[in-house]
Amino acid sequence: MHEFSAMQAIVNTILEKLKEYRVERVERVVLEIGKLTFLGSEQLKFAFEILSAETPLKGAVLEIVDIEPEIECEKCGYRGGIPYEEHEGYHLVLPVFRCPECAASVNVVKGKECVVRSVEMVVEDES
Ligand SMILES: [Zn+2]
Repeated sequence: MHEFSAMQAIVNTILEKLKEYRVERVERVVLEIGKLTFLGSEQLKFAFEILSAETPLKGAVLEIVDIEPEIECEKCGYRGGIPYEEHEGYHLVLPVFRCPECAASVNVVKGKECVVRSVEMVVEDES
């Protein structure tokens, strides 16, 4: 599953980072997930629950911030949202990677991120 492997990478990254601290527990993890990753929030949360069990992340609240896609056209300078196209019969609405102004190909500037924005944790007392 797409979400599982993505979450495995995220959890590994966080756990690696946590080694630098004497973590008592992690309270909250905030992720930024671009909509163009097509990762489902519910599936990500489910994967997190399973993957965080038996780790210091167990019980942490997972918060997912959806990032709206943004594209940039080199030809006409358009910068903004991405157009979507409905595919009849497939019940699918897919983004179109073309400039809505001049139809040139575009660069995606936002919407593909899958990053950890913050991790809130309680650190053990030094004493
Ligand atoms: Zn354009």
